[in-house]
Amino acid sequence: MQLRRRGIRDADVLRAIERIPRELFVDEAFSEHAYQDIALPIECGQTISQPFVVAFMTEKLDLNPTQKVLEIGTGSGYQAAILSQLCRRVYTVERWRELQKAAEARLAELKITNVTTIIGDGWLGWPPQAPFDRIIVTAAALDAPAALLDQLKDGGRMIIPLGENRDTQQLVQIDKTPEGLVETPLLPVRFVPLVHGRVKRD
Ligand code: SAH
Repeated sequence: MQLRRRGIRDADVLRAIERIPRELFVDEAFSEHAYQDIALPIECGQTISQPFVVAFMTEKLDLNPTQKVLEIGTGSGYQAAILSQLCRRVYTVERWRELQKAAEARLAELKITNVTTIIGDGWLGWPPQAPFDRIIVTAAALDAPAALLDQLKDGGRMIIPLGENRDTQQLVQIDKTPEGLVETPLLPVRFVPLVHGRVKRD
């Protein structure tokens, strides 16, 4: 109801959010806050996004059941679980092994079988499965990584937060059209940074 009030209209997106228990994706200490519209801390100093932002980004992806989607920044796995309900296949890349493992376990618990979790550097995308119909980046960069733009199908769409710091970030929609890349700013947001390189010390 809160999400509908804030303007999320896509019935499939709302249904997916209803179906996936966010509680499972947050630390037990925060489970009583799992259904409030706020971002919450997860392991490795990262955050699970605010439900409104998850819903908004998902709606803007304009998904259908034939599509292959790449997510950069698995985090808790919550966004990937939502995507899994709305497309054919999700590949999600995370730089922390600990987060990737925990996300994989949660997805298995929910019997979600169309998400592949990958440990790696999201700046490089995931060439073995490129090109992708849709790409969603859930950490902020100054500019869209070139490898990700390359791995986006013609006619494809990327949703990514761009900006120098947390106070100036904008969620941006990038469409790959026959005339070139078309950028549409959508919403001011606050995401953790898209860091270079995977975490090697575990
Ligand atoms: N989508 C997540 C929230 C992501 S928070 C969810 O639903 O819970 C952003 C995540 O991006 C963090 O887990 C962080 O470790 C990851 N990240 C940052 N830089 C990255 C990179 N270069 N490659 C892969 N993951 C990265």
